[in-house]
Amino acid sequence: MIELSNHTDDQLISTAIKQMVNYGQIFYRKGWNLATSSNYSAVISANPLRLIMTASGKHKGELTHSDFVVVDENLQTASVPGFANADSLKPSAEAALHVALAKIPGVKAVLHTHSVWSTILSKLYFEQGYIELCDFEMLKALPGVDSHETPVRIAILDNSQDIDALAREVTKRLHADKNQHAFLLKGHGLYTWAESLEQARNQIEALEFLFEVVGCSGDKH
Ligand SMILES: [Zn+2]
Repeated sequence: MIELSNHTDDQLISTAIKQMVNYGQIFYRKGWNLATSSNYSAVISANPLRLIMTASGKHKGELTHSDFVVVDENLQTASVPGFANADSLKPSAEAALHVALAKIPGVKAVLHTHSVWSTILSKLYFEQGYIELCDFEMLKALPGVDSHETPVRIAILDNSQDIDALAREVTKRLHADKNQHAFLLKGHGLYTWAESLEQARNQIEALEFLFEVVGCSGDKH
C-alpha cells in the first residue's frame, strides 16, 4: 500500500467514478463508445501522480464501481487510501496517453471516445494534419474560445498500437503548443483533457457535435 497524504480521499474517488460511469452511459447512447472502446481517467493526486481510470476490456455503457483501477505515472496499479485495486483488472491499453496528458499542469481529467464522425473525419483530414473548426457557436464550449469566429484546429495524429510512442509524440506536440485541448487519432477517435471531468465531458459533447456537423455538411475545412 502506498501512503498518500491528504491529496486523496474516498469522496474524490467515488465522485470521479460516479461521473465516469454516468458519462459512459451517455456516450454509449450517443454511439460514441460502443463495445469496449474508449477510456476515461481522472487525476486524484498530482504528486505523486495517481489516476483513477477505466480498466481494460470493460463495456463503457455498462460500467460499475468495480471497473476502475488506480495507476501511477509508470502505469503500475497503485492502491490508495479508500480504494483497493482488484488483482484481476488491468489499466486501459491506452493508459500511457492518459498519463502523458495528466502530466500537463492543471489537467484533472482525460476522456476518449470512438465515434463514427471522429473516425471518418480523422481519415479524411489526415493528410492535412488537422481539422479546422470555425464559424460555429458551439465552439464557445471549448476553453479560451469566446466567439464563433475563433478558429480551432484539432490535430490529427497517425494511429499506432505503440501507445508509448504515441504518448511521446503527444507530449512533444503539447510542449510546442500549450493551447491545445484535444486531438484525433487517425481511424480511431478523439482525446480531450480539462481541469475537471465536467469540462472534459463538455468538450467531448461540443467536439463530437462539431464533427457531426462538418461530416454531415460535407464542407471541406
Ligand atoms: Zn481508443
